[in-house]
Amino acid sequence: MRANYHTHTYRCHHAVGSEEEYIEKAIAEGIKILGFSDHAPNIFPEGYVSGHKMLPPEADGYFSHIRSLAQKYRDKIKIYVGYEAEYYREYWRPTLDMWAHNPPDYLILGQHFVFSEWGGDMSSSVPTTDAQRLGHYVDRVIEALDTGFFSCLAHPDILNFKGDAAEYRRHMSRLIRRAVSLDIPLEINLLGLSSKRHYPRDDFWALAGELGAKAIIGCDAHNPERVADKEEIKAGAEIAKRHNLELVDSIRLIDFTAKYNALISNSHP
Ligand SMILES: [Zn+2]
Ligand SMILES: [Zn+2]
Repeated sequence: MRANYHTHTYRCHHAVGSEEEYIEKAIAEGIKILGFSDHAPNIFPEGYVSGHKMLPPEADGYFSHIRSLAQKYRDKIKIYVGYEAEYYREYWRPTLDMWAHNPPDYLILGQHFVFSEWGGDMSSSVPTTDAQRLGHYVDRVIEALDTGFFSCLAHPDILNFKGDAAEYRRHMSRLIRRAVSLDIPLEINLLGLSSKRHYPRDDFWALAGELGAKAIIGCDAHNPERVADKEEIKAGAEIAKRHNLELVDSIRLIDFTAKYNALISNSHP
């Protein structure tokens, strides 16, 4: 493995270890590019505070600390700072306004909730046989990818659908086709694999292979030990091989500020 773009920090409240421990592990495993993508701070409805994301005031420290480590380790490894984020339509614009203070190098989409994490919406991981809910997940993911801000789709198969297989194919084909047309890689998530979650799921990846999707392996490390674990990488690569997926090892970085400025000028002509 040459690069891993899916790495968390303690700021999301469910990851452990210091940033330097993640970096040292990556170097020891021969990684050339390490991207931090902690759960992004978000603007939320008044009164809601997420227990599994960094808080807005923590972003300054996240960027300044990791940028300084990028300098310190620059002869050994290339380090980027991004976010893993959901797309919540109603709060997207104010959230971008906040992120603009510390422009991320890239964003990966992780739609852990379909619509919202406040107000009682279920997590995407809750099993469902409701094809309409699956359709909503796919609609939101496509809308997010269409913003042009996301470079990768983390665990695209996180929606835990247990209903009709034909419906699954129909909706997931829409998602995969859009990712292909936007040239956005789909992530084979090693955390899901090693912790035996409902993803990565074989029917999804079989379809992704048929439709010519690009796949990327993401460690989703919440612990330094999980950066570039050789057995996990091997198991992830086997999924790609089994389904004839083109495995890539880099994602597009974005010029966040340019994209953000273009959005601002379009919305205020
Ligand atoms: Zn995630
Ligand atoms: Zn993650």
